[in-house]
Amino acid sequence: MEYVRCNLCGADSTVVRYPCTVEGRSAKGEWGAYACTHSGYGRHHTIVQCRECGLVYTNPRLDPHDIVDIYEAVQDPLYLEERGGRVLTFEHHLKPLERIAGPPDGRPLLDVGCYTGVFVEIAAGHGWDAQGLEPSRWAIEQARARGLCVVQGTLDTADLPEAHFDVVTMWDVIEHLADPRSALEQVCRLLRSPEPAEGRPGGLVVVHTIDIESPFARLMGARWPWLMEMHVYYFSRRTLRAMLGKCGFEVISDRPQGRYLRLGYLANRVGALMPVIGRPAEGLVTELGLRGVAVPINLGDLFTAYARKV
Ligand SMILES: [Zn+2]
Repeated sequence: MEYVRCNLCGADSTVVRYPCTVEGRSAKGEWGAYACTHSGYGRHHTIVQCRECGLVYTNPRLDPHDIVDIYEAVQDPLYLEERGGRVLTFEHHLKPLERIAGPPDGRPLLDVGCYTGVFVEIAAGHGWDAQGLEPSRWAIEQARARGLCVVQGTLDTADLPEAHFDVVTMWDVIEHLADPRSALEQVCRLLRSPEPAEGRPGGLVVVHTIDIESPFARLMGARWPWLMEMHVYYFSRRTLRAMLGKCGFEVISDRPQGRYLRLGYLANRVGALMPVIGRPAEGLVTELGLRGVAVPINLGDLFTAYARKV
């Protein structure tokens, strides 16, 4: 484990916001708790808040190489089962993206942390020249089996063209990174620069993450389900705006955006959080043949920020 300074302002002065709920540290290479569908709700290391800028983060945390090792090794068959819900969610996310970015017209889009490539496939289907970047070797195999253009690696290791992409998306990724500021600076380099003479704005970054200052997160306190071992940074709309500003972006909008979940998966997740309610609910949903029905969920504690390279 390593102690780190604030990734947003560099200060080394924090207060504990949520004390550690796990004993010891995760063994290197233990990826179970880092799978996307892992249900380790309420299990996390010490979560602190910077006294200077208010950024909330896990400290101490695994060292960055161990974090990357874990994501390279992660496997997650349950994610494949939940594909239907993800497809609906990403179809839904593309609408506001295209309102801001304009029509696809074969323009290059990079999905950072694309996992099995669900968004890459949908964006390509809409007419984007979409490719994905992902550390998990298992997830890359799933994406390639569907014929998708994906690169195995991270922003630090992948050889990607600079000033090339019109859009870079990061869906539920930034909270997992060891150094989000460096990641956003690298994304900025990959995005097309503005060309004022031709009236072309700079490339667009789209960041979807959890909101630690949302009313639901504040209401739930230490019981907010997104306080998890695999989450390293807990942004708010304010702290993400501040970080995007420092990394060469101008924020266009940020607003809560929910997701679609199938009822069978939702009951399974609720069961992991509250077995007394979840288990009977899962039985009922199965009995009624409703496992595959997708429902929109928006508790206001997930948000999407859109920002232009300036
Ligand atoms: Zn700070």
